[in-house]
Amino acid sequence: MKEERHDVVVVGAGPAGSITAKTAAEHGLDVLLIERNQEIGVPVKCAEGVSKEIEKFVPLNNRWICAEVKGANIYGPDGTKVVMAAEKMDEVGYVLERRIFDKALASEAARAGAEVRVKTEAYALIENNGYVNGVYVRSIGGDTRIYANVVVGADGVESKVGRWAGINTRLRPSNISVCAEFLMCDIEPNKDYSEFFLGSEVAPKGYAWVFPKGDDCANVGLGIAGDVSGEKHRAIDYLKAFVRNRFPEGKTVAEMYGVVPLSGPLNETVADGLILVGDAARQVNPLTGGGITYAMQAGKIAGDVIANALQENNFSKLRLMEYESKWRSTFGKRLDTGLKAKEFFFNLSDADLNTLAHSLEGVKIEELSTGALLLELIKRNPKILFGLAKIVL
Ligand SMILES: Cc1cc2nc3c(=O)[nH]c(=O)nc-3n(C[C@H](O)[C@H](O)[C@H](O)COP(=O)(O)OP(=O)(O)OC[C@H]3O[C@@H](n4cnc5c(N)ncnc54)[C@H](O)[C@@H]3O)c2cc1C
Repeated sequence: MKEERHDVVVVGAGPAGSITAKTAAEHGLDVLLIERNQEIGVPVKCAEGVSKEIEKFVPLNNRWICAEVKGANIYGPDGTKVVMAAEKMDEVGYVLERRIFDKALASEAARAGAEVRVKTEAYALIENNGYVNGVYVRSIGGDTRIYANVVVGADGVESKVGRWAGINTRLRPSNISVCAEFLMCDIEPNKDYSEFFLGSEVAPKGYAWVFPKGDDCANVGLGIAGDVSGEKHRAIDYLKAFVRNRFPEGKTVAEMYGVVPLSGPLNETVADGLILVGDAARQVNPLTGGGITYAMQAGKIAGDVIANALQENNFSKLRLMEYESKWRSTFGKRLDTGLKAKEFFFNLSDADLNTLAHSLEGVKIEELSTGALLLELIKRNPKILFGLAKIVL
């Protein structure tokens, strides 16, 4: 078997992997970024909504921004509309073209000096004295043993890297959102607002979305909790009903199915010689399902910490814990609050959701973050939200 050696090998070229690779390469490290698919960013499994926070990580480019929105319209089960401003929400601000965006991020990593290799799949870890020491990969030229001081598992929701290292990454059905989405054209979406629809008939334990993609196109999709999905109650069944109702004349030009982890982050995201980032670490807001900005933030932190670790030639779990404590202090609280809020909201009846939506009539939502919105809701609906107040406050 062929052999090679790098300072870092990053498994998976999504936003988490590419930003990790870019950051580590900027520190002068020898980085290999591998992607199992032949094309980075394809197939797209995303609604492509993202907050303007991405500007912190990558210079904006019109090639991958399809639309800019002012905010979000959230509709209760009876159609009551609540309007929120973009600045304060995870998935609202821009609608991306991820097949281009993900490639642009990988190109940034390459420009910084990382080697990017597609059609290359990791299938096992190399371990030595309890340390992760590299990965075995399969590619067209045959199998290769790739040694590295640190392996980064950026392999998304289906991540295996963490499990291979003995980390418990199991997701229960109640902790995943099963999603279906159509890219629709020849419709008239709201071009200024991303729209969210709640209710047990639309998307039980989840929501439907319409994210404008410019002109007469939009991503129209929904996610439902894994434990309510079943025969004739699958995400695609709800989506077909939603589309029949909202866009009966629309044309579907692409279909997508995917899963979002809503468990909240893993208890441990590092091991000796190993770091997990992005969906692989379950760094997704469980309330919204948004993970792109967290993946990028985690990637930046991981790249910096790996560079520090290399300087000290120390790749122990204890040394790499710097990554874990930094990402937890940067955005861990948001994910924890999102998890508690999700568990609470998923169990509310449609009548309760309607009451909550009505209670926000007249509130200036532009000034509220998601956290502040929860507090405002609690203040206005102490009876319904007594349980939430106990866990959030
Ligand atoms: C239906 C749906 C809608 C969503 N909508 C939004 C949204 O609107 N906004 C938002 O912020 N988030 C959204 N998300 C979540 C978002 O897509 C993820 O959080 C984000 O892509 C995470 O980035 P990542 O780099 O961790 O993983 P990914 O983007 O999944 O990248 C992982 C990469 O690893 C590769 N890989 C896997 N295994 C291996 C292997 N063994 N060897 C080599 N390569 C491997 C994969 O091919 C993939 O390219 C959505 C998710 C879904 C499913």
